[in-house]
Amino acid sequence: MKNSFFVLLLLSLFATATRGQSQFVVDSSAQIVKAHIHYLASDALMGRNTPSAGLDSAAGYIARQFAKWKIKPAGGNYLHSIGLYQQHLGEGNSMVVAVGDKSVQLPLKDGFIPFGFSASGRVEAPLVFAGYGVVDSVRGIDSYQGLDVHGKLVVVLSDTPPVMQKDDVKMSEEEKMLAAARKGAVGMVLVTGPAHRLILKPRGYTWPSLSKIIPNNLLPFEIGRDVHKDIPAVHAGEPFIEALWGSADALKNIQLKLDEGVMPSAFPLPVAAASLQINIVKDELSANNVIGCIEGSDQDLKNEFVIIGGHYDHLGAGPDKGDGSDCIYNGADDNASGTAGVLEVARLFSVQPEPPRRSVVFMLFAGEERGLLGSQAYVQQPVFPLKSTVAMINLDMISRNGDSLFLEGAASCPELSAMVVEHNKQTGLNLILDHNGLTGGSDHASFAGHNIPFLFFISGLHADYHKVTDNPDRSDAPKAARVARLAFLTAWQIANQQQYYSIKK
Ligand SMILES: [Zn+2]
Repeated sequence: MKNSFFVLLLLSLFATATRGQSQFVVDSSAQIVKAHIHYLASDALMGRNTPSAGLDSAAGYIARQFAKWKIKPAGGNYLHSIGLYQQHLGEGNSMVVAVGDKSVQLPLKDGFIPFGFSASGRVEAPLVFAGYGVVDSVRGIDSYQGLDVHGKLVVVLSDTPPVMQKDDVKMSEEEKMLAAARKGAVGMVLVTGPAHRLILKPRGYTWPSLSKIIPNNLLPFEIGRDVHKDIPAVHAGEPFIEALWGSADALKNIQLKLDEGVMPSAFPLPVAAASLQINIVKDELSANNVIGCIEGSDQDLKNEFVIIGGHYDHLGAGPDKGDGSDCIYNGADDNASGTAGVLEVARLFSVQPEPPRRSVVFMLFAGEERGLLGSQAYVQQPVFPLKSTVAMINLDMISRNGDSLFLEGAASCPELSAMVVEHNKQTGLNLILDHNGLTGGSDHASFAGHNIPFLFFISGLHADYHKVTDNPDRSDAPKAARVARLAFLTAWQIANQQQYYSIKK
């Protein structure tokens, strides 16, 4: 009785959407969801680190599910490389500084070290000192005021001036590089400011090839289409400071004057130039987003897209101590559960008598745990135009904490949140809107950054979060299936409407 009443109710809700179809299917399957979670979070997949063979196995599994439910590959293939690279320091890195008619070759490591975010290439240009190299519009600070750094190599100090430190405002070395590039500089040389620091040795990036104690797995990752690699950037040490200012003490005096508010332009360098040769080698690694789609049935609306996504990667495995203790971060809740949920939503869409009017896209992301790499790569090179993407639903950790389901960021997309609240009358979860603290880092953020309205479903943190104990037997598959049903009902409504939603900042 209850079920037939439920189906009737939904039929009336979706009568126009389904154009009178009589077999609208809403029953998500706890069994299917459970099987997905148990496979994805099995020890065989070794915690689905990005990149890893286990992650690739998971991608293959997801693609096979799509194929089974006749969900089409997006752009000819289910697998979309996120263009993940790991970098190492190549041969031939060199730095020469020339002051007057004297030139000094700085040794790699003790004299200078390239930053991990540095561009590769060769530059030779005059040096200009730009103080702390900070630009802070809030406080009206611009170290570059009165300086022309176009076509030049800028020399900047580490840290920030006291007025910014007082407010605990930091500016990373990479941000300094970006600021220098925006001002037209062709390279950046950072030196440690001797007024506030004792050790002036260059750190740059901790390249394993420069130190025996640094393991190779510390090599930096990046997604290849990263737009931030602008100019060569190195951290230089005392030989460089001595070549330019005579001594660290001389620079210390200048820095103390800067701290009093004197502008960097008051401290011109002697006629000096440097040549930098930077060679950072990128090795491409295998890591893929997995994307499938169902084309909309409406001639116009099929060119609009609703994305249902979640990350399928996790943290991998720690070193095996050899004592039989668990070292595999299975990530059953985080995020085998959300992956299973997306697959279940995809299955529900595929079994309807007719496709929805808009196109729906199912997207499983790699590299979330390393900093949203997969979703960032997608928004940089979208398969479907972002301007035609009407909403993104993100499922991340949906199988814990009883009946509770948090809808984070609900206030930013009130129209969408209202739909979820309405549909939850059928799923009966304890829906909690905008609980503090969980809005940030998951893949919806990559889409929100492009003004795409989103819904973020998460059942909340727990004691096994990011621990080896986040195992499949602790995941509540029936609960994840209910969340999948709620996500499906909401996505189905969005995909059959012609409305557009906005995102409030
Ligand atoms: Zn997660």
